Formats: sequence, C-alpha cells, structure tokens
Amino acid sequence: MSERPALVRTRAELSAALAGLTGSRALVMTMGALHEGHLSLVREAATLADHVVVTIFVNPAQFAPGEDFDAYPRTLDADLDALSGVGADLVWAPQPDDVYPEPTRVSIDPGPIGRVLEGASRPTHFAGVALVCTKVVGLVRPDVALYGRKDAQQLAMLRTVFRQLDIPVRVHAAPIVRDDDGVALSSRNRYLSADERTRARALSRGLRAAADLAARGAPAADLVARVVDEIDAEGGIDLDYAAVVDDETFDVLAATPGVAPADPRDSARATAAPGGGRAARILVAARVGTTRLIDNTGAALLHADDQGERR
Ligand code: AMP
Repeated sequence: MSERPALVRTRAELSAALAGLTGSRALVMTMGALHEGHLSLVREAATLADHVVVTIFVNPAQFAPGEDFDAYPRTLDADLDALSGVGADLVWAPQPDDVYPEPTRVSIDPGPIGRVLEGASRPTHFAGVALVCTKVVGLVRPDVALYGRKDAQQLAMLRTVFRQLDIPVRVHAAPIVRDDDGVALSSRNRYLSADERTRARALSRGLRAAADLAARGAPAADLVARVVDEIDAEGGIDLDYAAVVDDETFDVLAATPGVAPADPRDSARATAAPGGGRAARILVAARVGTTRLIDNTGAALLHADDQGERR
C-alpha cells in the first residue's frame, strides 16, 4: 500500500507542516468516514495545485442539539489508509479546541441562502458551516478549495460567503459520485438497512426523471411533482422537500408545500445555463427509516415561466 499522508493535530503542527510546503495548495474539507466521493475531491484537487491538504473534523458548530454529532462515524485510521495514494500531502485532524481555542463570539449569517431548504430544516447549520470553513481557509490559506455538488446548497452558500467577505480563495465544485444503483455516496448511507437502501434509490430515480422532463421543456413545478411521484410510488420514504432552485442564487423556483418561496426583496437574477435556458438544480431531502438523505441534479430550465430576469 502507498504511504499515508502526514497527519497533524494541533494548530502549531499544522502551521509547521504548511511552512514546509512550497507551491500552490488545494484544500478538501471533510468530516471523515471517507468514501469514494471524498476521494474523488482529493484526486481532483491534486490536478489543481502542487499540494493537497485534507481536513477531517466533525464540526460541533454545524450540528444542532439532538442531531447526530455524537453518533457521527469517526474512522480516522481507515480514513488515513483511504487517503494513501490519492494525492493528499497533509491531513489536519484537529480536536474542537484546536479549531475553537476560545469561545466564539463572532458569527457569520450567510443570508437568505442559509435560511431555505436545508437551512429551514437545520436553522443553525449553515452559520456553523460558514464559520468553520472561513476559519479553516484562514488557517490553511489554500489557493483553491474543493466542495462536492452533493451538498449543493453548502457549495452555493460558501461561494456567496467567500465572495462577499472577500476571502481570497477559489471555489471549485466537484461532481456527485454515486454507487452503481444511483444512490449518492454519503457517510450516512451506512445507517441504511438493506430494505431502506433499496427504497433510497427512489431519490436519484426521481431526480433523473425530473431532469429528463426539464430537457423536454417542462416547467419547474412539473419537475417537483415528478420527484414527489417517484417517492410516493416507492413508499416508506418520509419526504422533507423537493424543490427546483436557481443553481447559483438558490432562489426557490418551485417546491413542495411548506418550502418558503424566494422573497422578492432577496431575489437575485437568473443564472444562465451554458447551453441556453436557466441553470437550475433539482433537490430532494427525505428520511428513509431514521436516516436523512439529500440528493440533487443539475438541469437547464427551458420553459418560459422559469426564465426570470437574465444576467
Ligand atoms: P462531508 O464529509 O460530508 O462534510 O463532505 C466533505 C466534502 O465531500 C463536501 O464538499 C461534500 O460535498 C463532498 N462529498 C460528500 N459526498 C460526496 C459525493 N457522493 N460526491 C461528491 N462529493 C461528495
């Protein structure tokens, strides 16, 4: 087996190790329990910079009381093995005190993008993500940071926070890695029973069917209905939401009841898709058994109702 990357734990060790890296740096932030989705980010990172720094940190600030912070899988030894030979130079696996050496009195409000969808289900989540990502970017000072489209709202939120706070880092989006059955890889998939795993396929199936409809010019509301139909037909899935959003601003264009529509005062202009139409993302969040899963896919909206004001 190829060699494991160097492991550092404290801030002082991190800063000494960074001082020894010459050339450009790419950052991949993870919570560990690494799978092929994480490793694909690391491999891509190695093509973008001279060195790759991977962080493994289950960030308490992004979990609300009652969420799975304590139960979140921690598998550092296996993670270091997984990171051998994929292009990682350095792994920073801090303790909470290394990241938060003093009580944090500063908070980052990511704005409207942090309040819808995942932000509505988890009201303190994106502020916690924005805080840790800003701190880690400040400590690692990468040229480029990679985030997976699996967490599309997190990606859009971080792009906005870094841009609006003038944090000097380039954000690179990496594609979603799926298993052969279409289910997006996630550290939480390990909680699914065999039966739940079969049911979970309905999420990606619904997204694919909705993206096909979008390509044929269907409006956003029909795409939401298509995802809901697929999930209803499967049964045994507790849908949290299905939605279609602008791919960059995350303005909600259509969604299941209970999802707040975009506030016209916040509403930004429409993002153009490269091949024409509006660049959108179809999103789904659902509980299968006790496991909450999220998934999404990109789509270009061609229907006249969904075009919005162009930029
Ligand atoms: P996490 O450990 O869940 O915080 O994820 C760390 C990074 O890996 C985030 O940028 C995720 O979006 C990304 N990621 C997680 N699962 C996947 C996947 N299946 N495909 C692509 N990227 C992923």
